[in-house]
Order: sequence, then structure tokens, then C-alpha cells
Amino acid sequence: MDFEHSERARTYLAEVSRFMKAKVIPAEATYLEQLVRTEDWTKWRIPPVMEELKAEAKALGLWNLFMPDPKYGAGLDNRDYAPIAELTGRSFIAPEVFNCNAPDTGNAEVLVQYGSEEQQERWLKPLLAGEIRSGFSMTEPAVASSDATNMKATCEVVGDEVVLNGQKWWTSGAGDPRCAFYIFMGVTDPGAERHGRHSMVIVPRDAAGVKIVRMLPVFGHLDEPHGHAEIVFDDVRLPASNIIAGPGRGFEIAQGRLGPGRIHHAMRCIGGAERALERLCQRAVGRVAFGKPLMNLGGNRDIIANARIAIDQARLLTLKAAWALDTMGTFGALTDISAIKVVAPNVLQQVVDAAIQIHGGEGMADEELTRLMMAARALRIADGPDEVHRGMVARLELKKYS
Ligand SMILES: Cc1cc2nc3c(=O)[nH]c(=O)nc-3n(C[C@H](O)[C@H](O)[C@H](O)COP(=O)(O)OP(=O)(O)OC[C@H]3O[C@@H](n4cnc5c(N)ncnc54)[C@H](O)[C@@H]3O)c2cc1C
Repeated sequence: MDFEHSERARTYLAEVSRFMKAKVIPAEATYLEQLVRTEDWTKWRIPPVMEELKAEAKALGLWNLFMPDPKYGAGLDNRDYAPIAELTGRSFIAPEVFNCNAPDTGNAEVLVQYGSEEQQERWLKPLLAGEIRSGFSMTEPAVASSDATNMKATCEVVGDEVVLNGQKWWTSGAGDPRCAFYIFMGVTDPGAERHGRHSMVIVPRDAAGVKIVRMLPVFGHLDEPHGHAEIVFDDVRLPASNIIAGPGRGFEIAQGRLGPGRIHHAMRCIGGAERALERLCQRAVGRVAFGKPLMNLGGNRDIIANARIAIDQARLLTLKAAWALDTMGTFGALTDISAIKVVAPNVLQQVVDAAIQIHGGEGMADEELTRLMMAARALRIADGPDEVHRGMVARLELKKYS
């Protein structure tokens, strides 16, 4: 196993770290001041500071660092990008600043690997330029979507058109004013074998028959200006050329999409946990109760030690998963990828919970800590609940004995 970062990755790491400290972290307060928070998602606007930071990061070449294909981005492998993702996890605005935010990263990778020239020209180019954003519509309210074969929405090929019908929810990013398209997953051929029934289709947000019903709240917050939408697709008719890679290839594409995305999520969780631990320690050292600094009360030193141990374990496991993905591909890394999808959000949740606790009442009102808590809790469900990933790890383990 080799976790050594390349020379190029070390240079990027140093530059991203400097830019994070000098520009991104100090801009968080401005971002929040400029943010329009309202239930009417049609009034959401992008805080101007975000576009300013994006322009600066782009000019410095700190752009599309997640993209492994050097034709389209930095060309780093997963091991090399992982520590950069960790740095961006320290700030809720950072992934977007470097054009490394979900779900655009996964959608861009899909279009690089499977998109036609026409699809790449129309959708991939502006996505990689940071001019538009996108959504990924897979989960449905009517069925247990952690089993993706349950999906009911349809995308039937009729002549030279594809016709979409169904209801999706939790399409993240769909409320963003710059969101231009969704990648929709639906059933094309119910008679085909289980993993050959589905297709992925590019749906322009303004296509006739696409209706956003509402933005779903996360712990009561709408996650402006991106949102998580419930969307009805009612007889949406598109050219068949909007199908990605042709009918029936939805599952194959989904498999490829998820490996790197899980490494990114896990490393961002670790970055978030590091920031929460910093906050926890600063508070533990600086505040006094019952005549002692908080760090010397009760079991607080154990809490700090356990957080450090958990973060370092999670980082090593994620780097192992990145190494496995780089050297053996998705199917050689299934156990590791599922393992980190369970471990990293749980570690983030544990550390943030401790950081909130040591802040007392202030912790419950702290924008940074409560955002990290929401992210951790959501990630234990989004992109496959913990139980599904544990199920995968157990299945692969037991296979050795059957
Ligand atoms: C903030 C957020 C953002 C999201 N963004 C997106 C997005 O952009 N695009 C998208 O398509 N979806 C998105 N999702 C949806 C997410 O991926 C689904 O919610 C998730 O896959 C689970 O599907 P479900 O909600 O239908 O839960 P269900 O499938 O109904 O599962 C409910 C629960 O049942 C239990 N369970 C399920 N399977 C097993 C098992 N095998 N063993 C034991 N217990 C089990 C688990 O406790 C699970 O949490 C997002 C969700 C959230 C919360």
C-alpha cells in the first residue's frame, strides 16, 4: 500500500491550504451575510463573494482538482486528490470555490466517461467552467430507494424520443439558480435483466413537463441557495440522444459514478471533523468552569483523545480505499469504499457532537458546527444508508466462506 502523494499533489495541497486560510475561511461570514434565506426558492441568489472566490481559484489553477482525466482537469488520482478534498471539507463553501462540489463532480465524471461529443459540448464544458450546475435524480418518494432496482420512474424510448414519467425527490442542487440540467435515472425496459433495465437521461431543467414541487428541509433548513428538490416529470419528451451511453446502461454508469464520489465525501467528512476538533480544543482550553479549564473536567480529555484516534483511523481507511480504487478499480475496492462510507460520516457526527456539547448553549446556535452536524447526519443516509454499506461489507466477507 502506498499513500505517498506525488510532487504535483503536494504543490496543489500547499496552494489550496494557503488559499483556504487566506481567502475561503475569512469569506464564510460574508457569504452568510449575502445569502438570501427564504422559503420561496425562486428568489434564491448566489452570494456574489462565491463567484469572486471561484474566479480567483480558477486564475490560480486551483480548479477541477477532482477530475482524474488531465484533458478536463488536474489529472490527479484518488490518493492524490484525497488530502485536497480533506482540506475543502473544512469549509462549507470551499468545494464549490474549487469547482469540486457534489453532485456536479459525479455528473461531470459521467459525462467525461460516457457522454457523447454533443452532450459534452453542451453540458460538460459549462459545468467544468463553473458556469452552470446540475442535479442527480435517482431517489423516489414512493419506493425504498436504497435498493435502486425498486425504481418506478420510466424513460421509454419512443421513435427518436425518450419519454420520462415519474416522481423524484432529494435532487440536491436543483434549486440553485445556475442549475441547468439533471441526470435522471429511470426504467427503460422492465423485461430486461435486473441491471439492464435502467437508463440515465440528461434533462434540461426548463424542459416541458418538469415541475419542481418543493424544496425539502434538512432539520428545518432548506440549504439555500442549492436546495434538495422534489420533482415531477410528467410526459417529458426529449431527443433520444439525451440518453447517456444508450438505453439500459444506467446501472453500469451508476457503479462508476459512486466510487470516487465516496472518497470525496469521506475525506471532506475528515476535514470537517478536524475543524470541529480544533473548535472543541480551543473551547476546552479557553473556558473555565468549577475553577478549572473545561479540558480538565470530567471525561473531556478522553473525549478529545477518542476524537483524534477516530479521525486518524478514518483517514487511513479512506486513503486505503483511494489506493484500492486507483490500483484495482471499483470492483476491487468495494469493501473499502462501503467501509469508509460508514466510518467517515459517523466519525464526523461523533466529533461534531462533542464539539457542540463543549460549547454548551452556544454550540446549538453555532452556524459552522450545526452545518457540520447536518452534513454528517444526512450523509449517513444519502448515497446509501449505513446499513446498506454494512450489508455490502458483510456480504463480501461471508463470500470467502461460502
Ligand atoms: C440531504 C440529502 C441529499 C440527498 N441527495 C440526493 C441526490 O442528489 N440525488 C438522489 O437521487 N438522492 C439523494 N438523496 C437520497 C438518498 O440517497 C436516499 O434517501 C437514500 O438512498 C435512502 O433511500 P430512501 O430514502 O428511499 O430510504 P429507504 O430505502 O426507504 O430506507 C430507509 C431505511 O431503511 C433501512 N434500510 C434500508 N436498507 C437496509 C438494509 N439493506 N439493511 C438494513 N436496513 C436497511 C435504513 O435504516 C434506511 O435508512 C439525498 C438524501 C439526503 C438526506
